[in-house]
Amino acid sequence: MDVGRHPKIRLLAYSEVEGVEGEMGNFRIRVRKKARYVDENKCTGCGSCAEKCPTVVCDAYNVGLAKRKAIYKYFAQGIPSVYTIDAAHCRNFETGKKCGLCSRICQAGAIDYQQEDRIVELDVGAIILATGYELFDARKVPEYGYGRLPNVVTSLEFERFLSASGPTGGHVYKPSDLAVSEVLATLEKQMRTSSREIERFEKTFEMSSERFIEKFNSGELTGGHYDEWAGQYRSFLPLKEKFKRTKERAESLKTAHRLAFIQCVGSRDSRFNGHCSAFCCMHSIKEAVIAREHDPESEVHIFGMDIRAVGKNFEEYRNRAEGEAGIKFIRSRVAEVTENDSHNPVIWYEDTKARQVRSMEVDMAILAVACEPGPSARRLSELLGVPLNEFGFYATLTVPPLDTFRPGVFACGCAHGPMDIPESVAQASSAAARAASALMGARSKEQGAGSGEQDAESRKQVAGSEDHGAKAKKREAGKGE
Ligand SMILES: Cc1cc2nc3c(=O)[nH]c(=O)nc-3n(C[C@H](O)[C@H](O)[C@H](O)COP(=O)(O)OP(=O)(O)OC[C@H]3O[C@@H](n4cnc5c(N)ncnc54)[C@H](O)[C@@H]3O)c2cc1C
Ligand code: SF4
Ligand code: SF4
Repeated sequence: MDVGRHPKIRLLAYSEVEGVEGEMGNFRIRVRKKARYVDENKCTGCGSCAEKCPTVVCDAYNVGLAKRKAIYKYFAQGIPSVYTIDAAHCRNFETGKKCGLCSRICQAGAIDYQQEDRIVELDVGAIILATGYELFDARKVPEYGYGRLPNVVTSLEFERFLSASGPTGGHVYKPSDLAVSEVLATLEKQMRTSSREIERFEKTFEMSSERFIEKFNSGELTGGHYDEWAGQYRSFLPLKEKFKRTKERAESLKTAHRLAFIQCVGSRDSRFNGHCSAFCCMHSIKEAVIAREHDPESEVHIFGMDIRAVGKNFEEYRNRAEGEAGIKFIRSRVAEVTENDSHNPVIWYEDTKARQVRSMEVDMAILAVACEPGPSARRLSELLGVPLNEFGFYATLTVPPLDTFRPGVFACGCAHGPMDIPESVAQASSAAARAASALMGARSKEQGAGSGEQDAESRKQVAGSEDHGAKAKKREAGKGE
């Protein structure tokens, strides 16, 4: 919010860097500002367009667990607070069909179907890479059943379940039960169509369907429209019964009581990522505590080799989670997740303290998936001539730690390596200060002329010790094999 309002910060959201030329103190950047088909200066963010838009699409922000419209805001708190048309799904951009409803609804006249991508050129002195991370694809560990077993979800999906603004309004339902809502919606639609047809017959022949079917069964009324009416009514009755039962089931959905968090999914595993993802131990504990707050009857287990509570008061938080919130920590490495007849996940693990193989049935298993380099890390590394380290994150000098191998280009947050929000924010401030000091020559003034030589020496040493870019490429190639 502060950034959006700051008079000296220009925010180019929904944009991508396409080219970089020049050197520290004098970079020229080419940015593609993608067409939103909504004028940012006119849109008030009221949302009337999305209310009326007839096109419903899977919502990526809610990791596919909810729906959004073809004109949408990526998430409620997004800055700038304006809507965007998803041209891949909007009816106006499809050949042959025309809609234009949002343009007619929008009082601010912000809709502009003719808008095109714009290229913006920027002259800057330094660049800070803060492109973040992406989550490990849990399907790569087939033994945990993600994508195959409905009640195995990722940590991010679980966060959306816990959120009051999420797809379940903060209730933790089993995804296999949630499918009921979709079935109910389909049945409701079928019921409406069928009821309309039956009402039409009742009006035409001025008789209730119950009375008619008695007469039809006794042979009093036969042939033509009567046969059609009888057919409609006979198929309507089981549909009505099915709708009633499904509605009762949907209304009596129970929250998932027994939860199992499985740590290090894709992290600290030589098949995928050797590194520790740094934030998942703590976010699993946080999610476990919140789940217990929502439902004090729930039983929550965290399965992990160890808990890495690295940070001020983190260990104390972990101990409170165990002592006060009643979270059970099970030292183990989970071997497999199967499911029983009720679609309940069954966790198979070795209890390394008891040295026994055990199993536990739960309502839902949550996979703490690894933090991997962001999708644009490789592209930007090539564009900027900035190498990646062996894990695929931007490689930086040992000292100063946020400088990449290209002078004037800095990295922070998860683009630099896995870390939590406070550390990312601290690094971002640090990178901004480092960029300013590098530009102002302040650092060389403070530390004397030797510091420039030290920087160059540091770059040479790390670059000489290993070819980071080549190593990361090898790692990528290995993954695909
Ligand atoms: C389930 C889960 C729960 C978590 N809970 C917590 C928690 O409670 N507390 C906590 O401290 N941490 C938590 N974390 C960790 C937290 O998400 C990270 O620490 C934090 O997001 C890192 O911030 P970042 O800005 O470095 O990266 P990101 O949040 O990934 O932000 C990077 C941004 O850059 C954008 N971007 C990427 N490439 C480009 C490009 N080429 N051009 C323009 N933009 C680009 C991305 O779209 C994104 O908006 C959690 C993580 C997970 C997975
Ligand atoms: S033109 Fe129609 S389908 Fe497209 S975003 Fe507007 S209302 Fe939705
Ligand atoms: S933070 Fe915890 S769960 Fe995440 S990779 Fe490290 S040890 Fe595993």
